[in-house]
Amino acid sequence: MVERNWAGNVAYGEAELRQPRTFDELQGVVAAAESVRALGSRHSFNTIAATPGILVSLTQFEAPIEIDTATMTVRVNAGVKYGVLGQYLQRHGFALANLASLPHISVGGATATATHGSGDRNGNLATSVRSLRVVQADGSERSVERGEAEFDGYVVALGALGVIVEMTLAIEPTFDVAVSVFEELSWSDLAEHFDEITSAAYSVSLFTNWVNATVDQVWLKARVGRHAGVAGDELLSSTDGGEHFFSARPARERRHPLPGVSAEACTEQLGIAGAWVDRLPHFRLDFTPSNGDELQSEYLIPREHAVAAIEALRGLGERIAPLLQISEIRTVTADTFWLSMSSGRDSVCLHFTWKPLGPEVGALLPAIEAALRPFGARPHWGKVFAADRQALAPLYDRMPDFVALAERVDPGQKFRNDFLRATLFGA
Ligand SMILES: Cc1cc2nc3c(=O)[nH]c(=O)nc-3n(C[C@H](O)[C@H](O)[C@H](O)COP(=O)(O)OP(=O)(O)OC[C@H]3O[C@@H](n4cnc5c(N)ncnc54)[C@H](O)[C@@H]3O)c2cc1C
Repeated sequence: MVERNWAGNVAYGEAELRQPRTFDELQGVVAAAESVRALGSRHSFNTIAATPGILVSLTQFEAPIEIDTATMTVRVNAGVKYGVLGQYLQRHGFALANLASLPHISVGGATATATHGSGDRNGNLATSVRSLRVVQADGSERSVERGEAEFDGYVVALGALGVIVEMTLAIEPTFDVAVSVFEELSWSDLAEHFDEITSAAYSVSLFTNWVNATVDQVWLKARVGRHAGVAGDELLSSTDGGEHFFSARPARERRHPLPGVSAEACTEQLGIAGAWVDRLPHFRLDFTPSNGDELQSEYLIPREHAVAAIEALRGLGERIAPLLQISEIRTVTADTFWLSMSSGRDSVCLHFTWKPLGPEVGALLPAIEAALRPFGARPHWGKVFAADRQALAPLYDRMPDFVALAERVDPGQKFRNDFLRATLFGA
């Protein structure tokens, strides 16, 4: 049976799905395969994980989570989901710096595509990685540590350099987060106070459909209490004692990002503090999302262009809104990974959750990409986009280094697929 992704819009096309339990078994599968791709938790919306050969999933892999308090790292199997890892760390008094909106995605898959959360002082999730253990094309093992020349190529590698088996991630003492939601922020406030708004809490998200008279919701996730850590989060100096956040007013009930949808699936809000792992994602781990009735796209631009880029998208609002469920605006700091969307640039992330209307969304994406092209927009590797290799190459200075590395470590091209040929390698 051919497997499909979470959203159901992609069939991977594999000849076989293998779920090795041990390192030796995995080495054997990779060495023997003509064509092979690692599969994470299937949350990408495009054919990035597809292969006509073997799909390798680590869900059956036997590897315990190990915390090392001397180095403040945790060693994990790359197939573990952030929610599971996060609950384990929380039980032992530790935390990761940040999480994405959904806790169900795998650490290996999220890292491979430079998945991010939000925060003016937060890098993407891959910035927590300290080392990787990879099974290479010939079945041999390679460990790569932060500080080595090729580390920045290996971390965000789109599955093109091998199967990542284990990773160590930086951890810190656990901390609490309180989420406050405000509604109807004026567009003029966003334009005039963009930096103040996105730095008002540890992690900030704005939700909009681009056509409403105001920005629908602002989610402020503040670190509170012991280990609050960073300045500026001692509860929201701009909130006027909780009554206002600039022109926005506080939501009196919990909110789902989608207007009118029950907040049952969402993590706690209303300023009620709780563990990082239960507040940094928007959605609860114990709420299993139905197979996604949605598609997603996202573009990262240098943050200095945020206001102009938002205006450009508002200009397309009447075309975007009929296909859209909701858009989210987040921020992320620059990193050094060769293929990361935030490589070398403090970035603003412009995200679209679409209705499941593949052809219509596909027809609109070139217009969105044209509107964002002047800002050097980089599409999220794991979401739906139109840009090809010709459009992407000028956006990534280190792409030639990545291609050369892949040619060296995978000379038989067994980790390549059509997606990687179209976006990176050429035919
Ligand atoms: C509901 C939803 C919410 C989302 N929220 C966010 C968000 O907040 N922020 C954000 O940035 N993105 C978000 N995404 C996108 C998602 O984080 C990325 O698509 C991510 O890659 C998914 O991880 P995965 O484990 O499902 O990987 P898959 O989709 O299974 O695989 C993605 C890529 O990773 C590679 N890969 C997976 N495991 C390994 C491994 N062990 N070794 C080497 N390569 C590997 C695969 O080969 C493939 O190339 C969201 C997606 C969904 C469906």
